[in-house]
Amino acid sequence: MLHLPWNVRVASLTVSWLLVVIIVIELDRPPSPVSGASSPSLFSADRAVNHLAHLSRAPHPINSPEHDQVRDYLLNTLQEMGLAQDVQKSSVDVQGRSLTVENILGRLKGSENRKAVLVVAHYDSVATGPGASDDGAAVAAMLECIRVLKSLPQLKRDVIFLFSDGEERGLLGAQAFVGGHPWAHDVGFVLNFEARGNRGPAMMFETSSRNGWLISHFGQAVSHPVANSLSYEIYKRLPNDTDFTIFRRAGFSGLNFAFIDGLAYYHSPFDTVQNLDKGSLQHQGDYMVEMATQLGNTTADDPRTDNLIYFDLFGKVLVRYGSGPGFIFLLLAIMLVLTAFYVAKRRGAAKLSSSVIGAVFVLPGVLIVVVAAWAAAWVLWITHILSILAGRNHDPALYVAICTLIGVACGAAFFMAVIRRIGTENFSLGSLLVWSLLAVLANIYLIGASYLLLWPLLFSAVGWTLVLASDRTSTATKAIILGVSGAAVIAIIIPLAHKIFFAFSVRSSPMVGALLGLSISLLIGPIAAGLPRSRRVQGQRDFATANDSRLGERSPEKTAIAL
Ligand SMILES: [Zn+2]
Repeated sequence: MLHLPWNVRVASLTVSWLLVVIIVIELDRPPSPVSGASSPSLFSADRAVNHLAHLSRAPHPINSPEHDQVRDYLLNTLQEMGLAQDVQKSSVDVQGRSLTVENILGRLKGSENRKAVLVVAHYDSVATGPGASDDGAAVAAMLECIRVLKSLPQLKRDVIFLFSDGEERGLLGAQAFVGGHPWAHDVGFVLNFEARGNRGPAMMFETSSRNGWLISHFGQAVSHPVANSLSYEIYKRLPNDTDFTIFRRAGFSGLNFAFIDGLAYYHSPFDTVQNLDKGSLQHQGDYMVEMATQLGNTTADDPRTDNLIYFDLFGKVLVRYGSGPGFIFLLLAIMLVLTAFYVAKRRGAAKLSSSVIGAVFVLPGVLIVVVAAWAAAWVLWITHILSILAGRNHDPALYVAICTLIGVACGAAFFMAVIRRIGTENFSLGSLLVWSLLAVLANIYLIGASYLLLWPLLFSAVGWTLVLASDRTSTATKAIILGVSGAAVIAIIIPLAHKIFFAFSVRSSPMVGALLGLSISLLIGPIAAGLPRSRRVQGQRDFATANDSRLGERSPEKTAIAL
């Protein structure tokens, strides 16, 4: 049997979990750009970038001379590609100024007479930047997508490409199209592409209502899915809008995509072709071709089945299930937590009252992480502002990462103090109680977020049940079981924390802190279990069990599961 000193065991567990964190963040990247010399049937970011050089030379807000040059480039390119095209002109008054909105449309014919797939990105930029990523990358991707689709067998449905105008001045082009263009009546599905940064994976972050059928098609069609059902729950609560808002409100079925890392570049003079991550453009383009092909070849219209719960695993597969199976998984998790309690109590390793005390201390610990991360973030934010004032534009990522780590360290120290009072098993079971309660609440009030609580809970409950159930399991096996269940927690939580981190920048620290604080309450137990008993319990000052007359009769080895 493998027997290692406690410090080696704890160090190997911590290092392997840190490795999982690094691998998971490393996997949270867009695909590599496909070279311009690749097969014509593939979407190539290298080819698309050639268009982008013409689309984002300078800021091109609506009704500016540079805007007209971009418009002409799009019209000429569509003409060269031989697409049926149209320009929709309309006048709108915005803040007392009359603006001319010029939507550009191209239409690729399908073989059957069905509702079309509409691909949308806006070609205007803000006045403060050249808009290479917002939304030039998606506009360039549309031109490359047209080329790819023309090289493939004809789709059953038409694909309409809408290069919308005036998005930055209030979604003007999308409103004009939905309100007044005859092709709007032909649309069956909408795919909108946006950017709120200049790098990172493109997320499918918003869907039309009752998305079950669409999500299934998305999961089948795309090679690099990055999406989760929580992002829309968050997005719905933010004041942000894209052209997709207009289509969703008008009742269209569809999906909305964006890459969001590199927020410091958004709407800034630094949003240039040189600063754009070509991988993000590749990712947008892959989605565009894959979803246009998938939906363009379906004969069914969206039956609007119930929303699914979904999340991607490392951008490789989209896990998806309905609320029914979700409820069964939740019941299973709760039954496992109860089993862990039962076996721990039978073996004298835990006591309900002590576990409840452990549960009571979980949320204060999370709060400590949140407050510490938030406070550190504001101190460091001032340094960041000073560096911006000094004329440097860079991301505050490092600052936020340091703040989050400070918060996590404070929370971990607090949980360790609780563990020293009540014991590892009582605290870990208490944490499972809190997670069960939150998972039930998510299932009732925020079903899109339920996966985030359910799967870490389920893996941890399996781990503790196995470890507590048997005396005969070797310490090494127990360490591996808890190590694997902890790695699963990390693999589910960290990709989301990473995305919240780049979506909200410095403001993300409370949210990321809450997520990590909750996770630490699950992860601290396996680490504490690896420590020698003298380091994790202060003598017999186990206040919850002090009056338990049986406690004195038990040997310390029997009262705790040492790894
Ligand atoms: Zn935009």
